[in-house]
Order: sequence, then structure tokens, then C-alpha cells
Amino acid sequence: MTNQTTTATETARGASAEVLQNYVGGRWVASQAREFVNVHNPALGEVIAKTPLSTRADLDAAVQAAAKAFPAWRDTPVVLRARAMFKFVALLEQHVEEIARICTTEHGKTIDESRGSVRRGIECVEVACGAPSLMMGYSLEQIATNVDSSVFRQPLGVVAAITPFNFPAMVPLWFLPFAVATGNCIIIKPSEQVPLSARALFKLLEQCDIPPGVINLVNGGREVVEAICDHPGIRAVSFVGSTPVARAVYQRGTHAGKRVQALGGAKNFVIVMPDANFERSIDIITESFYGCAGERCLAGSVLVPVGDAHKEARDRLVASARSLKVGDGLQPGVRMGPVISGTHRDRVKHYIDQGVKEGAKLVLDGRGVHVDGREEGFFLGPTIFDEVSPKMKIGHEEIFGPVASIHAVKDLDEAVALMESHPNANATSIFTSSGKAAREFARRSTASMVGVNIGVAAPMAYFPFGGARDSFFGDLKVHGRDAFEFYTDKKVTITRWL
Ligand code: NAD
Repeated sequence: MTNQTTTATETARGASAEVLQNYVGGRWVASQAREFVNVHNPALGEVIAKTPLSTRADLDAAVQAAAKAFPAWRDTPVVLRARAMFKFVALLEQHVEEIARICTTEHGKTIDESRGSVRRGIECVEVACGAPSLMMGYSLEQIATNVDSSVFRQPLGVVAAITPFNFPAMVPLWFLPFAVATGNCIIIKPSEQVPLSARALFKLLEQCDIPPGVINLVNGGREVVEAICDHPGIRAVSFVGSTPVARAVYQRGTHAGKRVQALGGAKNFVIVMPDANFERSIDIITESFYGCAGERCLAGSVLVPVGDAHKEARDRLVASARSLKVGDGLQPGVRMGPVISGTHRDRVKHYIDQGVKEGAKLVLDGRGVHVDGREEGFFLGPTIFDEVSPKMKIGHEEIFGPVASIHAVKDLDEAVALMESHPNANATSIFTSSGKAAREFARRSTASMVGVNIGVAAPMAYFPFGGARDSFFGDLKVHGRDAFEFYTDKKVTITRWL
């Protein structure tokens, strides 16, 4: 989804902006990049920094630093590694507001949304602090006469994580704390569109008694990602982003012999049964479609009212979406911020134009939205199409913006069939007061995250997270016990003392 090309005007606009550095071997260092991507404040349309598109040599320097740090870090007692993460939690708690502001400034989401995402990230660090228990293996005595056997979990070595633009602070925290607490050394490659939150996290990590080389930050785009997949010194890769890139990273990384988990894109279906409590559900459904301006891999994308629910669900969603205040996410009362970039806004607008051309009924049009004093911002208003079919682009492709498509069906079977026919299977929700319908729906859907009367079945640090079908490539998911599995190998010792 990323557009790395920068026009001449753009380059000129960003001329005086700060060029970001990488963090390698415990120091902030300049990249060897010759190309840069402008980072914007999407509410103002202003360039606020420049991301270097680091080279293979930059990546190699980080791998060398990480490899050098690994032997001592893996030998550091697990309680001390966990203690570094406890310290990180304490610092994050002190700086929630600062990081949330950076997140909103570079991404555009509302400050409350940023605060919430930082809190979810902190929970990942908290769970990683449980490494002394969660990294344990198991053992059995007397597997033969005087012979005992044990399984130890050992860190892999140098690992890397590649993250998307939509959760600049939270997604790096899905990986770094688990990797570090289990004794690995990690390289983070944040999205070139939102590198400032990751930098802020590293400024805190610098204060956590973590030896040089254990944590590294390499800014960049495609070249660094491909170098990560190919580098023989990297043992495992975590990726979060769009499906085509997730698939490519999975294939390239596994081809090079690495362990890879790659989380991809989504098209999430929100089913509304006629017996749903509309009064209580509508705010949650609205938030599902328009929270973070629809730039969430768990956002509702297709609303599927069943039978008689159609008219009421549509009319209530239109009224509720229309009332959302669109604006600068740092300003009070704003419920929806801008999308990430001018390019992305044009892309979403193109989907809306296409929906109209393909015959969907536009019942709320966000294209003309105006935000006073923020004329250069990348804003779009909430948009709703009715009478959408999966044959239309808007009914099938991931839009990743504030656009809801309504596809009415006659019964739950048809709703499940519609959802199951889509290649993505990240998250889904059902709104109903019937336990039977909810149970049936949850059992039959392939999506990994199922919400019952919940609009966004959000990942929790202590449960596994990652989609199915084209929304996930790999075996072990992220978070919780899966994270400890992903970042460790199991070694079996068989012992006899004569
Ligand atoms: P993206 O795929 O464009 O970029 C993700 C990362 O890959 C970035 O770090 C980027 O630099 C890199 N990248 C981009 N193009 C590349 C290429 N051609 N080759 C190699 N690397 C490349 O995704 P995005 O636009 O940053 O994020 C939005 C997407 O991420 C959406 O599809 C969304 O659904 C998905 N997402 C999924 C989850 C999940 O948990 N499944 C979570 C967040 C976002």
C-alpha cells in the first residue's frame, strides 16, 4: 500500500525537515540512504521529518551489531532480561501522553485512539515480563533406567520485525518485548510513513539497561525488507502489513530458511441480526467502521444486515456516521482524524468513485468534507454504500479508509457464506441477542478474531493474534504463548549420571 515515490514539490517541501537516524549497536547513526520519504502530519499536510530509505549495508551493520550482542544477552539471566522490560513498562507509563501525541501527529488518529493503542502496547511489554515463567520448558525423570530428559527453550539469535503505518507505537511492541525477554536480539523496521513513534520508544529503551546491539532500529522501505528476508544472519522475521507484501515476505523469508510470521490485510464482515439491540450496538458498530478513519486491520468493512435488520441498521449507521466530528485528532471533540496521506486519500476516493460507477447506492458521501483551518489535511468524511455486492471492487477489496459497504442477506447461512467466500479472514463480528446464533456464527467463521456484540475484536497481549487464509502466513501467531514459541527453539537433553 505504501507509495514510496516522492514528487519534486514534495522533496522541496521537506527540504528543511529533520532526517531520521537509525539506532544500531547502542548508538544513533546516520543511514547511508540516498533516497528519503517525507513524513507528514496528516491533519496539517505538513512535512515533519524525512525517513531515510536505508540500504542493505545499513541493515548488515545492524545484523552485525545484533549478532555480536547475542552471546552475552542469551547468557544474561532471564530475570534480568525481564527486569529490563519492567523498567520499560515504568518508562512507558510515564510517557504515555508524549508517545500518544507523537502517534497522532504522524498518523492522524485521535489522541484517545493513540492513548488506547499505547496502552495495548504496554500490555505486551507486561506479558513479556512473564518470561521467567512463560519461557519454561518441561521435563520427565526416568524415561529409561537412571535417565532423565528435559526440554529447554532457547532464543533463536537475531530476529527482525517489519511494521505497518496504522499503529506506529503499538505494532513494534507486539514483537520487541517478547524477542528481548526471551534472549534474542532484534531489528525493528518501522513503516517509513510513521517512524517517529518507534524512535520515541527507542529513546525510552535506551534507558532500560539493555546492552548495545540487543535492540536496533533500521528505517527504510522495500530494500531493507528484502534485505531482512535474505540476510543469512537473521533467524526469524515478523511482518505486519498488506496481504501482497505479507505473502511475498513469507515466501522470500521461508525460502531463505527463516521462521516467518506474516500478518496481512483484511476485509471484515459485521453481521447484524434482526434481534440485535440496535440502541446499544450502534455506537460500537460506528466505531468499528470509522475508528482510526477505517485504517485498522480489524475495522468493519462490510455491514451485513440479516432479514428485517436491513433498514434499521442502515438508517441508524447513516445517522450515527453523519454525526461524527472529523478533524485534527489533537483537538477536543474530534471523533475521526484524517487518513495517512494525500496519496491514500486519493486511493480511497477512487474506490468511492468506482463504487458509484459499479452501481452501489451511495447513501453517505464523505468526499466533500471540509475541516476549518486544516485545508491542507488529508481528510475524508464517513462514507456509506448500500446495495453492495462482492463482485464490486468496494465489496471485495480492502479499502482501508472510512467507507462502509452494506450487503443485505436473507439469513445467517447466507451471511456466513458471503464472509467465507472472501479470501481474507482476519476478524468478524455479530450483533444479536440470540446465544444460538452467536455460537453458530463463531463456530462456522474462519476469521481468527470473532466479536459477539463487540465491534472490534481487538488483540490482547495474552491471547494469540493473527488472521487466517490470506490474512496470515505462518504457523505461530503473535502475542502470549505463541510469541514465546515463535522466539524460541526447543532443545531436548537426555541425561544419565552413572
Ligand atoms: P504495507 O504492506 O504497505 O507496508 C508494511 C511494511 O512493509 C512497511 O514497513 C513497508 O515499508 C513495507 N513494504 C511496503 N511495500 C513493500 C514491498 N513492496 N516490498 C517489501 N516491503 C514493503 O502496509 P501498510 O500500508 O503500512 O499498512 C496497512 C496494511 O497493513 C493493511 O492491509 C492492513 O490490513 C494491514 N495490517 C494488518 C494487521 C494485522 O494484524 N493483520 C495489522 C495492521 C495492519
